[in-house]
Amino acid sequence: MNQAALVLIKPDGLKKSLTGNILTRLSETKLEIVAAKMVRVSKELAEEHYKHLKDKPFFKDLISYIRGELHERRKVMAMVYWGEDASTKCRELAGATNPEEAEPTSIRGSYGRITTAGVYENVIHVSSNPEEAQREIKLWFHPEEIIVDLYPAKEIVAREYKRKVWA
Ligand code: UDP
Ligand code: MG
Repeated sequence: MNQAALVLIKPDGLKKSLTGNILTRLSETKLEIVAAKMVRVSKELAEEHYKHLKDKPFFKDLISYIRGELHERRKVMAMVYWGEDASTKCRELAGATNPEEAEPTSIRGSYGRITTAGVYENVIHVSSNPEEAQREIKLWFHPEEIIVDLYPAKEIVAREYKRKVWA
């Protein structure tokens, strides 16, 4: 069945110049990229994204990590992959959460590391299943930023909506 998966190239992946490499690896899946952008990750977005880990001792460091505070790269590349078994296929290529336990040829196994503070810097995030994907994609993207209709959306007329346009 066609599914969507959120894929993030984390700040360590960007700092290590792994973008092209990771995209090439993920292209083996033959999935389609239906959304992509660079994001400056707010504290709110980071905490909501990782809310399932909020009681973990490494939570604060994890928030700093995903916001790029450990890598002087305050950005993340966010993408939506779409197609047959998207999350399973992308996670398989990503490898296990702990880069030391990940398959050595997987993306995390090849490029991840564990910091002395104990955070797994594993260069990439992939949604763990379609339900998580839906939750995460709705956090990271607006419907208009995705070129297919993934989830039900509605049109609204926004009044007093402040946004930037080209000068
Ligand atoms: N993480 C960590 N130590 C742990 C577990 C997780 O540093 O013991 C970090 C790691 O960067 C991981 C992220 O928290 O990618 C989210 O954890 P999750 O359990 O959701 O793993 P994932 O879905 O990313 O494989
Ligand atoms: Mg997860």
